[in-house]
Parts: sequence; structure tokens; C-alpha cells
Amino acid sequence: MIQKPKGTKDVLQDEIYNWIYTENVASCIFENYGFKEIRIPTFEYTELFERGVGDTTDVVQKEMYTFNDKGGRSITLRPEGTAGIVRSFIENGLSSKLLPFKAYYAMPMFRYENVQKGRYREFNQIGAEIIGTESYMADVELISMADKLLNELNLKDVYLTINSIGCPKCRSNYQKVLKEFIEKNIDEYCNTCKSRLEKNPMRILDCKEKRCKELNKGAPVILDYLCKECKEHFENVQNGLNSLGIKYVIDSSIVRGLDYYTKTVFEFISKIDGYTVLAGGRYDGLVKELGGIDTPAFGFAAGEERLISLIPQEDLQDEQLEFYIVSMEEKYDIEAMKIANELREYFSVQTNISSRSFNAQMKYANKINAQYTIVIGENEIRSKKCKIKEMKTGKEVESKLDVESILNTLDEEFM
Ligand code: ATP
Ligand code: MG
Repeated sequence: MIQKPKGTKDVLQDEIYNWIYTENVASCIFENYGFKEIRIPTFEYTELFERGVGDTTDVVQKEMYTFNDKGGRSITLRPEGTAGIVRSFIENGLSSKLLPFKAYYAMPMFRYENVQKGRYREFNQIGAEIIGTESYMADVELISMADKLLNELNLKDVYLTINSIGCPKCRSNYQKVLKEFIEKNIDEYCNTCKSRLEKNPMRILDCKEKRCKELNKGAPVILDYLCKECKEHFENVQNGLNSLGIKYVIDSSIVRGLDYYTKTVFEFISKIDGYTVLAGGRYDGLVKELGGIDTPAFGFAAGEERLISLIPQEDLQDEQLEFYIVSMEEKYDIEAMKIANELREYFSVQTNISSRSFNAQMKYANKINAQYTIVIGENEIRSKKCKIKEMKTGKEVESKLDVESILNTLDEEFM
């Protein structure tokens, strides 16, 4: 038997409602904040991610699904959404349109990861980007929208952590002291960290190796090295969040896994399993890095699998099938289907398409949790009347056999 590749999953029908529910809640909220959906290619030229995400990141160095296509071009399945959206923003000349550009998405991502709970090789992200404003207000709006999403999904036990990782100006001073700190013990770091010391020492702070994490304790923090502008920006973000009543803690160790971040970065973390469910930040240098006009931006992405795993079970009830139209005998199957089709203007309806006997249909209607059944046979067709049966209570009420009457009867007798 052929099995699915490691790190992928099938979302079967008893789970699909969780996905639809989560995506609907997200898109309703995002639309109310003035965001519109964007869809971009599943694969891009590899160079986009090397330049966009950064060639010293874990994502680019270890996790990308990269291959040559039949034309010999190097192609990569997107490991994240932002680089592709920025590419699209530049390529479609959107910087000359009305700014800020506000876009959201729900898309699968691909990373060659060590598979474990909450970590897959194909996973889904729901995210949003604002391109074209450097104001701290964009940071505040997007963080508050993320907070709203998690509240609306009823995620308890998540907390917000924020940090600022400055701009290239304040970072150059910081990187000097950070490098001095790490160099003292460089022999004890993992090989990946060693290779990053010259090119990008801040990456070392994001290493997941236990030993490296240990060595990183007590490292200088960038918050102490912020330039005046970055400091003010970060203070304004905090004041904004305070005024909106959004609680957070400052965690100076957050550096995020992608190179494009500047200034504000943030993560919503689950207290239950310690996983980050939603994360993002400002990326003022990325549009220019990818060949566009220098344009500041801010974005976030949430792992949809991790969101769904934290939504309270009772919020994830599948919608019930409303009607099952029972056909007394095979010769009434088509009449039953006619009634079903008319009722389908208003309800979810099933009828006998499997040659089941009368008794087998009743059993089936029970099993699929139909709320109401209507039996169609000789009498019903002749008298143009039927009985609506509520399955849960057994209550039966007579009605004329037309949709309007059925609607009225439901309204009067069952609601
Ligand atoms: P982590 O530190 O957990 O590896 P990351 O920094 O790589 O996360 P981002 O690239 O910022 O994560 O992705 C944003 C969110 O996407 C994460 O917070 C998480 O919820 C989700 N995510 C990232 N990688 C995976 C994965 N392999 N499987 C499932 N969800 C993931
Ligand atoms: Mg990762």
C-alpha cells in the first residue's frame, strides 16, 4: 500500500469543519480590518527565499523543498508566505497604488522539518501583511488583529511576547558585542552556529540545540542597543497596546527565525505546550532587498494546525444534517428526490440514493444525525400531505407537502 509522505496529513471529513470554521473566523476578522485575500504560487524561484528569508536561516539552510524543474530552473515549494507576497507586490507594481497594501492568506507551506507533534512538513498558515507604512500604528493594528483572532477562536492560555530587534543601524553596534560574547565559547557551539558567527551572529540566538541555548544565556540583548528611532518606535507600540488593553510581556530573547525582521517582533505562545501559535513582526528592509522601492512593512503568520489543536472542543461541533427524505419504496425515490431538491434551497437534505429499504433508510437517517425526516409514499403523494418527524424527540406534525408549508410548520411547531 502506498502511504502519504512523512510529515503530511489527510484532513478527513469529520475534521474538515474545524478547518473551515477557523478560516472563516479569520477571514471575517481580517476583512473587518480592511484586509483582502491574496493567492500566490505554491512554488517560486529558489532565489526568492534565499534572498528574502535569508541564506543563514534554518529555513533556507536546512528546510526547503528545492528541485530543478525539467527546464533546469531551481524551484522551491514556498516555506512561508511573506517573500512571495512581497515579490507579487513588486512585480504587479502595487507600490504605485493606494498604500498601505493590506493582504491576508490561508495557504499550505512546505518545510523539511524533524516531524513531531505540532511540526509537519506540509502545514498551513493563516497570515496577514501590511505593506507601505512605517508608523508604529501598523504594528499596533496588526498585533491587535492577531489578538482578536485568538480571542474569537476562544484560545485560552496563550500569552503575547514582544521585542524589538532594531534596524541595521543599531544592529551593527550590537552585533559587535554579541560576537565578542559568543566567540569566547565558540568551540562549544554546534557547527551551524560556528558557521554563522561571521555572517549573522544574531541567528545563533535562535538555535534550537540545547547546548547552544545554554551557552547563549547571559548574552547581551539588543534592547540595550536600540537607536533613538527604534527605541521610540518600540515605546509607541507598547503605549498603543497598553491603551488598547492588550497584555504582553517583553522577551528580549525573541529574534525570530527569518532574517527579514526589523524593529518590532512578537509571538503568541501557548502555555499548554509552549508552542508558538502565531508570530510576526516588522520587515522594513525586505521590499528593497527583493528589488522594489524601499517600503516598510509588517506581517504575521499563525500555524493553522496549532490553532485548531487549541480551540475548545465544544466550539468545533460539525453542523447537523437537517433533513432526510425517506422513500417508502423504490418507485417513490424520484418523488422523494424532488422534495429534497426543493428543500435544498433552505436546508441540508439527503435522500435514498443507495437502494435502501424503508427500515434501512430510517436507521441511516439516525446514524447521520438527521434532525427531521419526512416519509414519501403513496398516501403522501395522493393527499399532498406529509408528516415531519423530529428525530431527537419523536414528535410528528402533519404538513402540506410543499416547501412553503413545511417551512411554516417547522416555524410554528418546532422552533
Ligand atoms: P518554530 O520556532 O516553531 O520553528 P518558526 O519561527 O519557524 O517557528 P514561523 O516561520 O514564524 O515559525 O511560522 C509562524 C508559525 O507557523 C509558527 O508560529 C507555527 O505556528 C507555524 N509553523 C511553523 N513551522 C511549522 C511546522 N513545521 N508545522 C506546523 N506549524 C508550523
Ligand atoms: Mg521553524
